[in-house]
Amino acid sequence: MTESITLDLEQSFGELEECILVTGPDRVIVYANRAVEQLLRVEPASLVGTTTRQFFADPGQFEQIGELYRSPDNAKARKKPHAFEVVRSDGTTTSVEIISAPIFNSTDTLSGYMFVARDISKRKSLEKKLSDIALTLEDALEAISEGFAIFDSDDRLFICNDNYRDLYADTTQAIVPGKQFEDILRFGLKSNQFDTGGLSDDEWIAQRLEKHRAADGAVIEQHLADGRWLRISETRTRSGGTAGIRADITELKETQARAESAYKNLSLIADNVSASISEIDPEGRCVFINKTGCEWFNGSSDDLIGTFLQDRLAWKDREALRPAFQRARSGQKVDLEVSLRFPDGIRRDCHLDCNPRFNSRGGVDGFVVLINDITDRKKTEQTLAELYAITSTRKLGHDEKINEILRLGCEHFELPFGIISHVEGDRYTLTHAHSPAGELVAGTTFPLGDTYCILTIQANGPIATSNAAQSQFSSHPCYELFSLETYIGAPLFVDGVLHGTINFTAPESRKRDFSAADLQIVRQFADWISHEIARQRDHQALMDAKINLERVASIDDLTQVLNRRAFLERANTEIQRFRRSKQPFVAVMVDIDNFKLINDRFGHAVGDEVLARFAASIGGALRAVDVLGRVGGEEFCMILHETHEEEALLVCERLRKKILTDCQLERFGQTVTCSMGLAAATPADIEFSSLMQKADTALYEAKSSGRNKCVIYTSRPTSAGTDRPHSPGAA
Ligand code: GH3
Ligand code: MG
Ligand code: MG
Repeated sequence: MTESITLDLEQSFGELEECILVTGPDRVIVYANRAVEQLLRVEPASLVGTTTRQFFADPGQFEQIGELYRSPDNAKARKKPHAFEVVRSDGTTTSVEIISAPIFNSTDTLSGYMFVARDISKRKSLEKKLSDIALTLEDALEAISEGFAIFDSDDRLFICNDNYRDLYADTTQAIVPGKQFEDILRFGLKSNQFDTGGLSDDEWIAQRLEKHRAADGAVIEQHLADGRWLRISETRTRSGGTAGIRADITELKETQARAESAYKNLSLIADNVSASISEIDPEGRCVFINKTGCEWFNGSSDDLIGTFLQDRLAWKDREALRPAFQRARSGQKVDLEVSLRFPDGIRRDCHLDCNPRFNSRGGVDGFVVLINDITDRKKTEQTLAELYAITSTRKLGHDEKINEILRLGCEHFELPFGIISHVEGDRYTLTHAHSPAGELVAGTTFPLGDTYCILTIQANGPIATSNAAQSQFSSHPCYELFSLETYIGAPLFVDGVLHGTINFTAPESRKRDFSAADLQIVRQFADWISHEIARQRDHQALMDAKINLERVASIDDLTQVLNRRAFLERANTEIQRFRRSKQPFVAVMVDIDNFKLINDRFGHAVGDEVLARFAASIGGALRAVDVLGRVGGEEFCMILHETHEEEALLVCERLRKKILTDCQLERFGQTVTCSMGLAAATPADIEFSSLMQKADTALYEAKSSGRNKCVIYTSRPTSAGTDRPHSPGAA
């Protein structure tokens, strides 16, 4: 290397800020510019003729750079900057980066290298600081419970935390710094990380990238193939990259889904309850109303929401509700019972519950109104109370009770016709009926098959229809014959055997369907009527037995006329009546003549026969009002009503003659005769025995004056003061 070349170099590089070193092919320095002094703390001229070996902290690196001289064509080695630690002449150290350029001579052989060296210690410390910051940042990122990732402006992963990798466990292989966002997505799709929701991979990627690139902070919900849900929010970084935060919201989504299904269920429940449920805002406007409420208020929820429901009620009903609503609006829980006519035209007994709703500040946000229809309950209670009153009273007879129950049923069911039927085979007979104008008459009969009642008998329990046209009843002959739209009935069982039915009907269909309580009520009616019929049957049987017993006790077996006890009992009643009415009557004692002889001659059996024929003969000739009794062995007594003694005598004479023929014992050639003593009742005869005594006295007179005659007792005050009989003479 010549002096002139050195001068040229000094001219070219002498004032440059960068350090320039030029070496020969043997690595010996031929030139160093002034800037070298600053870098290596030596006189540049002192370096000429030496190598730089002394400045390398690591001699191995000096040897490495020596490669340049051994293989000058290695372009890579030439271009590549080398960085190494330098020990300056004053013992201080610094970092240096060199780049080199080969120098060729005119014969194109390598004649040396030019090096440009730069002190990079500042940059190094800056890099260290940066790496420290990166570490701190990573630490900070790891502390974030969400998945966090930053993609640079080229959309390559710059940094992410472990949570991010964990969220995409099937994609971790692709989640490495420097990887393109789209590549990570595609890798994820291949390893089945995502649920594309039916989209093709490309469609899904396109959608995802669009949102990713927007990076506008909008919330993205991402469904993973394993069922998890992630919430992603991506924003633009200052350097044009994307920072994204991802959280696992699977539980949140499940809770949300549960809440949604709970809400759906709640609405379903609200729509299926038979009560009206509505929510009213603080101004009184409806904000929610369920299906039943819509029916009662006669509108769709679209019609009703936003309006004042109470304005749809009559003024009077509105006034009745006003105080309750005011209290609810002031935050009190209110409940009341009130009868309201609703816009659907039906009046209902209602139980109202108003529950205020409070907002987070404790103010009233409105109130929920629950209206329960208690019409049926109230009516049922009232009807049962009335049924009890009817069945337990002693003031009503059997038929009256049944008719009252029919009336009550018609009232309860709001139907015009009520029937009790008796069913025998195919015959259906009305035994009791209730109808507005007496159209239904007891005793009317129908073939059972022509009545709906055959259905209730087949069902063996209560059945009902409130709209026959719309039910199975429409195909029944009864529908064609009588076009009854409404029917509720139940079979009657008396002592376990079908007796008939109770039923209530109307030609019109009924506004309200029959409730379960209505079927219970008609069953109660049926039970009571059955009970009533059974009671009536028992009562009748008892009465029959009593009558029979009384007959047995009062009729004489042999003669079939009243016995002595029964006759005297009756006779005493008659004398009481005589004392009240003053209607005349006559008592007659009758005695068969010489009866002892008949017994003696023909036997006791013949005597009995005579007694029987004798009683039959007299009994057959008397009027129904007259009374005949056997008062002794062959002695009889008669009471002749409304008869004076003269007429009575004529009657007795006729009877006496009748006996002669009726009681003739032809086979023995024996005539039976009798004697009679008559006595007309007088006010003095307080007891029948005194009158009988008088008749007996007259009979004695008849006997003693020859028998076979009738004698009237006459009261003739005599000196002896005794009554004497008077005889009209023998017949
Ligand atoms: P007089 O004309 O005075 O009445 O005579 P008499 O025989 O009828 O009188 P008395 O009263 O002495 O007789 C009644 C008889 O009637 C006595 C009794 O044996 C008889 N006798 C009473 N009861 C019955 C009865 O039930 N059957 C029969 N065969 N005889 C009876
Ligand atoms: Mg006699
Ligand atoms: Mg006698």
